[in-house]
Amino acid sequence: MLPALTGLSPDALATWLRESGEPSFRSAQILHWIWQRKAASIAAMSNLPVALRASLSECFRLHSLEHTHTQGAADTTRKFLFRLHDGRYVESVLIPANPALYGETSDRRTLCVSSQVGCAYGCRFCASGLAGFTRNLDAAEIVDQVLAAERLTGERVDNLVFMGMGEPLANPEPLLAAIALITGPQTLRLGARHLTISTAGLVPQIRRLAEHPQQLRLAISLHGATDEVRDKIMPINRKWPLAELLDALDYWNTLKQHRLTLEYILIAGLNDAMAQATLLARHARRLHAKVNLIPYNTVAGLEWQRPPDAHCRKFLHTLERAGATATLRVEKGHDIDAACGQLRLKQETAEGIRG
Ligand code: SAH
Repeated sequence: MLPALTGLSPDALATWLRESGEPSFRSAQILHWIWQRKAASIAAMSNLPVALRASLSECFRLHSLEHTHTQGAADTTRKFLFRLHDGRYVESVLIPANPALYGETSDRRTLCVSSQVGCAYGCRFCASGLAGFTRNLDAAEIVDQVLAAERLTGERVDNLVFMGMGEPLANPEPLLAAIALITGPQTLRLGARHLTISTAGLVPQIRRLAEHPQQLRLAISLHGATDEVRDKIMPINRKWPLAELLDALDYWNTLKQHRLTLEYILIAGLNDAMAQATLLARHARRLHAKVNLIPYNTVAGLEWQRPPDAHCRKFLHTLERAGATATLRVEKGHDIDAACGQLRLKQETAEGIRG
């Protein structure tokens, strides 16, 4: 399978052109076609000589993803399903303006992107890990989710959250290559502060990312305020327990300026006791983090349930009284299987890819 042009850094493209005997100004033309004009094919790059288009096509595909399905309406959460060259699927979710999350005046569109096919971490509540890990995405397969969402909707994506399928910090090199393309001045030009990486808590990788020069944002899937609760639902906590995670986040804060986000799914009878709220508020205060409460999205085949709305609000108020900044996520997309991995699992099951 030919590599995708969208995964090539501007430097790598310049090198290829030089080695092919092409003048260096072609580089800016090609980058403009890919990233600003959102060209649909190499053939459509009409100011390139026909011979160059032909030699590019011999060495590269333009994109790495084939869009197969969209779920949801234009003014609501939309979910895109993409087929990869090996017949696997990934999905991205486009979330329209959400004042509850981003402040009242914001009209930002947020795209939730996947970083892996499946996931190795096996969080007990999550659809992505149900079938285990298949493979890492490469840089093109990550950035093409953004390009495709913009092409399919005709609108800019303003915010990116790496909260789709997979554990982004377990796939660091393609992730950082994709981030360089997403933020680069010759490529997608999105500010690093509009990118949030979400992790289940890979401590050494958090420390390494803290030292990355860009001011990226970080969200932690906490989901329990004590080791006792976290151990029940997140196997990774046995490797890197809460105390080590919190230390790594203190380190993050010494090098990064944006507030951390603590993600906390509310699961009935599991992590929704008010004593957890009080401890969670303590962690949030220590880290100057904001807490994002998410009522659990039920997953077919898993027994967990979301608590009643009144209980979720009580948990929020307990947090706030204990001095934490917190939001209770306004539901978007529950009806379209928006929780990570759900659409892709259905598709692969239907095609018999899953064993
Ligand atoms: N591996 C990364 C990113 C993918 S998960 C991480 O763990 O952060 C993105 C977010 O969706 C995480 O906070 C995850 O815990 C949450 N999530 C997974 N399954 C969910 C479900 N059924 N309902 C609500 N949130 C869910």
